[in-house]
Amino acid sequence: MVTSTATWTSDPGEHYWLKNVKSSFRIPVYLPSLCVRRGRSIAEVTSVSSDLAGLIVLLSSIASRGSIEFVNGSIARAPDGKVVVSLFVDYTDSGLSAEGLANSLGGIGVVEGLSVNGYLTGGVTINKHLFPLLLGGNRAVAFSVEVLGGMIDHLRERLGEAANTLLYDLGRQYGVLFTRQVREETGLTFDELAQISLAELQAAGWCVVEGYSGDPVKRFWRIIVKDLFECAKRRSGSNNSHFFRGVVSGLLGEAYGSQDVSCIETLCAGNSTNSCEFAAWV
Ligand SMILES: [Zn+2]
Repeated sequence: MVTSTATWTSDPGEHYWLKNVKSSFRIPVYLPSLCVRRGRSIAEVTSVSSDLAGLIVLLSSIASRGSIEFVNGSIARAPDGKVVVSLFVDYTDSGLSAEGLANSLGGIGVVEGLSVNGYLTGGVTINKHLFPLLLGGNRAVAFSVEVLGGMIDHLRERLGEAANTLLYDLGRQYGVLFTRQVREETGLTFDELAQISLAELQAAGWCVVEGYSGDPVKRFWRIIVKDLFECAKRRSGSNNSHFFRGVVSGLLGEAYGSQDVSCIETLCAGNSTNSCEFAAWV
């Protein structure tokens, strides 16, 4: 644990970690869980191999024929060191059946294990292998932002303003526990811990961190995020980010070893701006 007697050594202006997660382009990441292409022949193809380069050459040669389209997928290294490539493919134009597709891939030496999961119903298939989902090294679950937003709306309808207090409290606890986990994994403290934790939330799809500045002497922080899941595309006419406001306060409090944190959202994308801005006193 961080003790209250420890000194705050980081000046955010000197080594601004979050500048390294700024980017002029963003790449959507497709978690290959469900594929829908009505009227098409689609399948999930999962291959296991010890030879990554050989597997990539094989997949390249299939792609170069043009008759099998790779829709999306993932590549990972299994605990036994083997490489697992899991793809959704559209093989309508290949003239193959799902069995034919399996035979054409399975007969090649570099592939040590193969599973071809044909469509469950016309033009709809799922991935039956990818489990559990890991974020960094920790098990995670993915929520649909639309569904989560609907759940939050429902909570507000049921509880009124009390829902925002509850969301803030839940967010704060998330911020504390998540930042503690990041510290145990990385050994970082103070501002480095706060910044890397925020950067990991960005990598997990929560938001894009547009600005971060802090003054450890005045104990004041300002954080600006864009496309926050809680607010983006949800114009409610008021500030929405009660959960994330709690996360910011828990995250900074845990990073700086302080229980006495307050955080307000000064501007919100759910109200009138394109980004959400937070001011926190630690
Ligand atoms: Zn907001």
